[in-house]
Amino acid sequence: MVMEQIISRCGNICSECPWSTFMRKKIAKEDWEEYSKQIKIYTGFKPVKYEWEGCVGCFTPNNELPSHPFFNFLKKCRTRKCGEQNEIPNCAYCRRFPCANTVARNNINREKISEKLGKVVSDDEYERYIKMFDAIENLNEIRSGLKDSQIKNPKPVVHQPEISKLTSEFKNENFKFVYEKLLEIANSNLRIKGIDTVAGLELHKIREELLWRFLWILVLFGEIDGNELRIDSGTLYDNRKPISLPSNEEDWRLYFDILSEFGISAELEILTDNLYTPGGYMRAKLPKSNDSAYIIKMKVSSDLQKFPFFKVLNEILSMLQKKTGKRAFSNFKKLNFNPLLD
Ligand code: SF4
Ligand code: SF4
Repeated sequence: MVMEQIISRCGNICSECPWSTFMRKKIAKEDWEEYSKQIKIYTGFKPVKYEWEGCVGCFTPNNELPSHPFFNFLKKCRTRKCGEQNEIPNCAYCRRFPCANTVARNNINREKISEKLGKVVSDDEYERYIKMFDAIENLNEIRSGLKDSQIKNPKPVVHQPEISKLTSEFKNENFKFVYEKLLEIANSNLRIKGIDTVAGLELHKIREELLWRFLWILVLFGEIDGNELRIDSGTLYDNRKPISLPSNEEDWRLYFDILSEFGISAELEILTDNLYTPGGYMRAKLPKSNDSAYIIKMKVSSDLQKFPFFKVLNEILSMLQKKTGKRAFSNFKKLNFNPLLD
């Protein structure tokens, strides 16, 4: 019996995914190692071992997902949440498709993999090792078979920043100035087009969390010199938890672009020609050493130079730590500076 094809919310083919329980039923145990090796060649990732039960696909409701930590990524997936909320099987049924906020990336497709391998990928290779992750192409194919009446507008959602109200005004002018700048950041859409969709809002949450954590580490652990600040990637890495740092230069640039809207400019100084892991992730520390792979240098614009921005923010965060201990970071990201008012 031929199994019906299962497409994930974001356009992958779950029923042919090497991480899935479905493929573990199709491939014999003795052929798994060779199959895994081939997948690694084409996608860059090695599937988890055969003995693991495998992913049950993103249509499985949260309360039926196995308790294995692997499934946390499904629980958090913004495209899955968006599809569920909009009651559509996948993004091909959405009027906004292809939207910038989906998790689907255009990096596993015939063209990119041919380029990576330096040869033209055959139809057979494409079908076996690439197509299941060629999400945008898979969705385009579905979309081309849909009638206009089957395509839905996503249900609108509203971005409401979680900011605590100040119970009175800051008497300290420096604090007031910095607080107002942080308010601007908290109220920003952080360069997200489509923040009125679930996927947009979820992406905003991720960017917001990273940005607050990044500012927190920079200002508390970086070296402040007047209007400039520098921090090495090792220090960033050691203090990053629970977030992950951007994994490539393009992602860092995105956060630098966001900060530049608020008068903070930043640049990367790469210290190595061994910046990326074989899997394509940017290193923070060099292999077998504690040396940093890059430095981030920041500067504030003339507008922010009215007050020593980094120094004042450092004072605010240090006081917040002193007064609120373990809750200091969560107070910071909600701009709950009330404990500093008395
Ligand atoms: S890992 Fe993704 S594509 Fe693979 S089965 Fe799970 S949800 Fe589907
Ligand atoms: S808004 Fe984007 S992520 Fe959400 S269903 Fe539409 S295309 Fe998919």
